[in-house]
Amino acid sequence: MANPSIIGNDPGKSARPFVFINTAMSADGKIATIERRQTRISGSLDFDRMDELRTSSDAIMVGIGTLISDNPSLTVKSKERKEKRRTRGLSENPPRIVVDSMARTPASSDIFLKGEGKRIIAVSKSAPAEKVKNLSKFADIICLGEKSVDLEKLLFELKKRGINRLMVEGGATLNWELISNGLVDEIYTFVGNIIIGGKTAPTLVDGEGYTCDFSSLAIISCERLEDGVLLKWKVNSKL
Ligand code: NAP
Repeated sequence: MANPSIIGNDPGKSARPFVFINTAMSADGKIATIERRQTRISGSLDFDRMDELRTSSDAIMVGIGTLISDNPSLTVKSKERKEKRRTRGLSENPPRIVVDSMARTPASSDIFLKGEGKRIIAVSKSAPAEKVKNLSKFADIICLGEKSVDLEKLLFELKKRGINRLMVEGGATLNWELISNGLVDEIYTFVGNIIIGGKTAPTLVDGEGYTCDFSSLAIISCERLEDGVLLKWKVNSKL
């Protein structure tokens, strides 16, 4: 589905933020094992590159599947970068956003326990009121969509809140919904030198998949990084 809300790739002119996905996958395209367990795919240089991307983003988003599997803190790790953000009048960490229709985010999640900065939980109207109330003690709540979070409306809302550059850190289902709805501008993929295998192991993009009319990409850059390759893609508009 094409997204009529995008006017070019300029974050200033679009009704939604500039959205990019950052991911690390194995040589066979898997982003985790069949147990959906996070595994080390890239090395320290790629981690540092990811830290810089986090630092320069206005917000970082993950799906609830990733939050439950990996319990990521999504914080900026380098002291210098945190300091750089503070001197710009920003919090050490960009706002951290979870897409979580049913308000399942555990209160004990590292995104709440680690680091300063705003947290946002995007829920749907089907989320149990009690769970939403409880999460509102730790995070701002945005409620959009009937059964699952309406991602297009969510992006518009984030833009209204001053988020111009949004980094998405997975997982496979959220990536599919964003890409297949024309809501992604660029994808960074680190391809590591391991094979994970497994028919049910998550890949960069899962979801229903296309049978035709595939999303097409244009290569922006390709460079060797440690024992893998970093690919940067532009997602072509279907307009
Ligand atoms: P996910 O994409 O992180 O989250 C998907 C969930 O988000 C959905 O099941 C849905 O759950 C919720 N959601 C709410 N509204 C949605 C919408 N409109 N569209 C899509 N999702 C929506 O989960 P996943 O596919 O299971 O991926 C998790 C796996 O990816 C883990 O194994 C993790 O380790 C891996 N991962 C790897 C990397 C990497 O770079 N290697 C990065 C991130 C994650 P509800 O209906 O309950 O809300």
